[in-house]
Amino acid sequence: MPVLHDELIKVLDGEKLTPHFQPIVSLIQKDIIGYEALIRGPSDSPLHSPFNLFNTAERFNLSTTLEFTCRKLSIQSYARLNLNKKLFINVSPSVLLQPDFKNGMTLKFLNEFGLDPKSVVIELTENQPTDNYLLMRDAVTHYRNMGFEIALDDLGAGYSGLRLWSELLPDYVKIDKHFIQGIHEDPIKLNFVRSIQNIANSLNCNIIAEGVETEHEFKTIEGLGITHAQGYYFARPTIIPLEKIDSALLVNSRPDHCQTNPYNATTASHIARLITPVSSETAISEVMRLFQHHNELTIVPLVDNNFASGIIFRDRFLSKLFSSRYGLELYGKKPIHLFVSKTPLSIDRNTPLESVSQQLTSTTEHDPAFIVTRNGEYAGIATVLDLLEEITRQQIRNAKHANPLTLLPGSVPVNERINQLLAGKIPFAFAYFDLDNFKPFNDVYGYSAGDNIIKAVAETLIGHIPENHGLVGHIGGDDFIVVFTCNDWKERCKAILAGFEEIVPAYYRDGDVKAGGIHTENRAGEKCFFPLISLSVGIVEPDSTSLCRSHVDIADLASGAKKQAKKIDGNSFFICQRKALKQTENLPTSTYLLNQADDMTPVFQA
Ligand code: C2E
Ligand code: CA
Ligand code: CA
Repeated sequence: MPVLHDELIKVLDGEKLTPHFQPIVSLIQKDIIGYEALIRGPSDSPLHSPFNLFNTAERFNLSTTLEFTCRKLSIQSYARLNLNKKLFINVSPSVLLQPDFKNGMTLKFLNEFGLDPKSVVIELTENQPTDNYLLMRDAVTHYRNMGFEIALDDLGAGYSGLRLWSELLPDYVKIDKHFIQGIHEDPIKLNFVRSIQNIANSLNCNIIAEGVETEHEFKTIEGLGITHAQGYYFARPTIIPLEKIDSALLVNSRPDHCQTNPYNATTASHIARLITPVSSETAISEVMRLFQHHNELTIVPLVDNNFASGIIFRDRFLSKLFSSRYGLELYGKKPIHLFVSKTPLSIDRNTPLESVSQQLTSTTEHDPAFIVTRNGEYAGIATVLDLLEEITRQQIRNAKHANPLTLLPGSVPVNERINQLLAGKIPFAFAYFDLDNFKPFNDVYGYSAGDNIIKAVAETLIGHIPENHGLVGHIGGDDFIVVFTCNDWKERCKAILAGFEEIVPAYYRDGDVKAGGIHTENRAGEKCFFPLISLSVGIVEPDSTSLCRSHVDIADLASGAKKQAKKIDGNSFFICQRKALKQTENLPTSTYLLNQADDMTPVFQA
């Protein structure tokens, strides 16, 4: 193919390549967070499409030259655009592992054009089978240490996406467009993407859905809690890209799910199925055909102008139709709404599953399915069986991870929730409660009295923190955790300490209350006086939690703050404030902790 070869040489020598940029949108911030650079050959050339370009280069052993030219031109053009957002660049793993790349060619380009590596995300595509995971991991660590972020591209299209994901723990994972196209009418794709989002939650990783083309696709991925998206729906790749996304495209997106109900991670939206509805004017024979062609279809919602007016149940529909003497012959052309005698039960998608269950049991109708709405409009349909399954699954899970004494969630669900909040960039404060003088109390009054104190702490915490304000966890012994998503976390902590101080004397004998404490041996076996039990709280405020990468970083900060709180007598708290650090600095944990004491301010002593 000398023609293509010559064409490629011409393109490379003359650097006749034009980078285009396509926005990547945060569905939470409702704004562009960055742009992916996508290269184009000359418009009149057979090498215009990147597919032909890269295939031809590979055939003639010129992949590396092409990659470097693309990289240089992308960085150069992007710097000129002065967009101040992240730049996502495509890098194939084989090039990533090459010494030239490792020796900092990309860094050199970035320096030359005045871009910071911290704002560059390397997209790795596994378009060839990868076998050397160790090498890949080393290479990725190398680039991370230089400040780059890492994205795994085309998850689901390549050879070893999940393996690479678990080995490389990328900052972003891009779901291949195959899974996004038509997701609103494909339960299999929906389940795949839902599972991918679940994995991402537990790994504190950001998912980017690629190839979002329509409003239906956008609303579906957004309903699944996907945080980032890219595709023609928002903008096509262009030489000079959009700087703002038309806000009308994002209207009603992820409505206040996070703000109003960040704790009930499981709401009606989690069990909603996106079954394509039919209009209430659809002919009965049409609906009949639908059921005949889709054996798995048991329910069909009737929706006009986004509002649901009924649900057709397969069994009821067929038996009614066939029990009539003339059946389809007589009714075939009539509209399907004749089969509907009542409006269906509709439940907002942000309703916690427990409330869904209450609403279902309190109605006199006992339909096996109900409509899930978003701002009153049709957003899906769910069955009572789905609801039961999900509630049972949760109960089993909660029981497995609950503390046997207080029945509060243990560290597993607490950590999961923290990672979810971090991934969704939802602000929260983290408080670590610990009892002072608990051991001597246990020694003198016995374990059973000790258990009662622990239960009293649990009750005090629950009494001051309604479910939609925070999550209370009991991570063992006398250690409690609260993840606050409300703004008044400080006032609530003060109220908890004051409330606890009030009830503690009831657990002591009168003489000890009068003395203000008990005499017993300390750990060294010496007689000592120990004041009444009190609570020490180490708090990490929202500006600081948002700078952490995972629950581990937060727990470290909270332990430090709790130690400081313990130095203060009586019921007291200590707030770790790290406002001084800019988010963009993204320092590793060790640096956070280095001058921790400087950033901590004692605020309150009850
Ligand atoms: P990719 O990295 O998966 O890039 C996304 C592709 O999806 C782009 O195709 C983009 O134009 C396209 N796309 C974006 N939104 C939509 C959508 O809503 N619907 C559909 N159907 N497609 C959408 P493009 O630009 O043709 O690039 C194809 C592939 O070529 C890229 O796939 C990437 O693997 C490769 N490529 C492009 N530029 C570069 C580069 O500079 N370096 C390297 N190594 N590879 C590149
Ligand atoms: Ca890509
Ligand atoms: Ca891709």
